[in-house]
This record gives sequence, C-alpha cells and structure tokens, in this order.
Amino acid sequence: MNTVQVKGSNEHTRVGKIVCIGQNYAAHIKEMKAEIPTSPVFFLKPTTALVPDGGEVVLPAISHDVHHEVELTVLIGKDAKNVAENSAMQHVAGYGVGLDMTMRDVQNEMKKKGLPWTLAKGFDTSAPVSSFVSSKLVPNPEALTLQLNVNGTTRQHSGTNDLIFPVSKLIAYISQFVTLEKGDIIFTGTPQGVSQVKSGDTLDATLSDSKGAILASLSVHIR
Ligand code: MG
Repeated sequence: MNTVQVKGSNEHTRVGKIVCIGQNYAAHIKEMKAEIPTSPVFFLKPTTALVPDGGEVVLPAISHDVHHEVELTVLIGKDAKNVAENSAMQHVAGYGVGLDMTMRDVQNEMKKKGLPWTLAKGFDTSAPVSSFVSSKLVPNPEALTLQLNVNGTTRQHSGTNDLIFPVSKLIAYISQFVTLEKGDIIFTGTPQGVSQVKSGDTLDATLSDSKGAILASLSVHIR
C-alpha cells in the first residue's frame, strides 16, 4: 500500500512521507512519565510501514511489548514550506484515523541510550491508516473524538480538543524545517490509554465528529 484516498474522490494520492508527533496530549505525557514539550517533537516513519483498513500488523519477534497509539491523521493536499499558522489549514486535504504501532520495550531502550526511535516506530506494518474525510467536511479538527477498541473493549477514547499543539501549529512548525508535500501524512500524537497488543487481537479505531457521526474508521488484525 502506498496510496491513500479521500472519500468521495476517485483520486489515489501517493503517500510521500509520514511525519509523527510525539507527546501531544498532557494525560499521555503523564502516563509516559515524560515532560510537556515547549515545541512539537517529531519523527518519521517510512511508507513501507503503511497498512490499509482491513490489513494486518505483524508483530516483530524482537519485541515483547508492542503498543497501540490511536491518532488523528492529517493528509497534506498542497505543498507547505514556511507556512504561517493562520494559512496552514489551506494545505490540508483530509483527516483520518491511524495507529502509531510502537515497540515500547525497544523504544525505552533507545530512550535510555539516547538513540533514534526509527526501529521502535518505523518497522513494517507500524502505520495502519484509514481513508480520509475531506477537510471541507471538517470545519474544526480540534472538535473530533478518537476511539480505539481492542477485541470490542475500549482502550483509548479522547477528544482532539486536548491536543497541546493543534494541527495548524504542527504544520507551521514542521514546515519551517521539513517541506510538507502533497500526499504526506501527519500522525498528530496519541491520547492516554496506550497498552499492549497480542497476536490474534482485532483493533477497531474511529474518528467521529461532535455529534457522534463516524468520519473515518480503521480495523486491523494483529499477527
Ligand atoms: Mg504516537
């Protein structure tokens, strides 16, 4: 999988890069015993990490503690370099829901040693993403709800109004250093409730609006 779609459009957009934000919800930072950052922290996943709705996440043998992180995802529709916060939203094509699958034990080891997170976060199948709902249908991406069920039990449930750095700020900040191009996806960070997944689990993630209508959904199986 290297293309994604905005619902209602026949266009298949080739995914460029995947930019992920770390630590963007206060309650998750607390559960990770980390500090609230003063500017967004970001890292990259390769496009080989992508998994479509209905796909499979393959647990790497080197980890014994792979976690789910449900996140609001943003599809870039127009190249962005050095954009101001007040014009950042013009660069968004759509919103979806994604899972930033993380080898927590490997990540903790890397944090301890001051090493990059690429292996812990960028392994094959570490980035399941839903299709995207057009940004024209989402006037405010900070008024949405994320939910993740594992085998039918809710593990994560949070409003995007709890984001420390909203979408406009993320685009403005990232684009100062890394040009965002059409087809890039931003994972905006996970709320609290991250936990371990096991082989055989089914993960169902949804993004819904303030009235409870589902805008995007994603279901993956853990192998
Ligand atoms: Mg994450």
